[in-house]
Amino acid sequence: DEDVSSLELKDGDAANANYIKAPGSAQPIFFGSVEQQLRTVLANVDVDNCDANGENAFFVADLSEIYRQHLRWLRALPRIVPFYAVKCNPDPHVLRLLAALGTGFDCASNGEIQSVLDLGVSPSRIIYANPCKAASFVRNAAANNVSLTTFDNVDELHKMKRFHPSCKLVVRILTDDSKSACQLGLKFGAPLDVVPRLLAKARELDLDVVGVSFHVGSGCYDPNSFADAVARARKAFEYGREAGYVFDLLDVGGGYDHDNFETIADVLRPAIDEHFPDALFAPGGSNVEGKPHGLRIIGEPGRYYVQKSFTLACNIIAKRSEEVVEPEEAGEEGSQLTPSMMLYQNDGVYGAFNNIMFDHQHPTPRVLTLDRHFVYRKDGSDPTHLPSSPQHALRQAPCSIWGPTCDSIDLITNKARLPQELQVGDWLVYEDMGAYTICAASTFNGLQRSEVRYTVGKGSYGDEEATEGGGQGLSRW
Ligand code: PLP
Repeated sequence: DEDVSSLELKDGDAANANYIKAPGSAQPIFFGSVEQQLRTVLANVDVDNCDANGENAFFVADLSEIYRQHLRWLRALPRIVPFYAVKCNPDPHVLRLLAALGTGFDCASNGEIQSVLDLGVSPSRIIYANPCKAASFVRNAAANNVSLTTFDNVDELHKMKRFHPSCKLVVRILTDDSKSACQLGLKFGAPLDVVPRLLAKARELDLDVVGVSFHVGSGCYDPNSFADAVARARKAFEYGREAGYVFDLLDVGGGYDHDNFETIADVLRPAIDEHFPDALFAPGGSNVEGKPHGLRIIGEPGRYYVQKSFTLACNIIAKRSEEVVEPEEAGEEGSQLTPSMMLYQNDGVYGAFNNIMFDHQHPTPRVLTLDRHFVYRKDGSDPTHLPSSPQHALRQAPCSIWGPTCDSIDLITNKARLPQELQVGDWLVYEDMGAYTICAASTFNGLQRSEVRYTVGKGSYGDEEATEGGGQGLSRW
């Protein structure tokens, strides 16, 4: 489609032959697997001689993973149009790809709305899904024809009446979020018994309430939360009818995970069939405008789309270690000497690893290079021998991994076991770093945010070579 056809193949030397330039972006896109991209970037980093920031941590974003997730969504939930939650990862290439795939967008602020509109997306594909908005943001939404938003309180209704009276409103109800990693109900959502009063007030103010939304909490691990939420939404629809409204929008929010998506979908579909038998089928993510009496269903997936698509490579910038004594060798006295290896890497909890604090994650490192040799393994297995000397068996040592700031809270993990042979200059890699990472990263201590390199992923040009033997290549980089 238009976005793809305007991509321009970059002429030039062999090193650049696998890249394309995307319009409006400084970062070219690589044709190849994540592993190939990691190798290619590292091949151009000389940690012993580079300029300041030359060995910075970096992400590799596999855009094909986002495309695959989209196809999965369309297969499992064909009646629900995804409105990607921009907050989760507002990366420009991610937004551009999703815009081309036809998703809508859940925006939480004026800034997010602007970045979506800047891509040429129609304002009708945006839901301003924040029940408590700044008045100036509401005015700007009105000026930009963004006219669908959520609310859960009377004051917000007055605000909408004053600054955007023609906006279509969606009442966000409170649902059970006790089975989710991040519980949003502490802050948002009207309890069902409050909904009739809210709708009466909206009616009195002559506001146009068009439907119901909920969010079962981010990182939901109990699919039944969705069934329960759909039942509550049905009740809210009835309250709408009693207040004189004809609701035609159900917003089933976010909370979907990469791993439990089909399980959730298998619960959500029958729940919708049971409670909303009039729901329209919207093939291919198209909307159902113009069909007067049907129900339109949207969702606000965030983490589901991007979680697995970003991999983060970090350089070991410092190491403190004493002689490591394994407990079994050392006996009772000696066991007190472990663990003793401390590794310091160049991204931490004030950067991309803020997901440890804000998103309850436990990122796990994998050895990407050892003794300055590339050992990344697609199957996740740890190397057992030093690549430069196959005879040398590695000693896995208990260790802690720290971020680059001067704060001692900047700890990635104190429960890792990594080869003692790791040196300053070697690289670790963390997978599943796409959700709620870069978006909340700071530059505390004067450190730069880790940049993103893009790839179209596995199965593309030149991929065979890198994935042969399970991607266990060992080469000097
Ligand atoms: N919609 C709203 C209103 C949210 O607040 C969030 C996350 O906080 C999302 C959608 C995305 O949630 P998730 O990433 O769990 O899908």
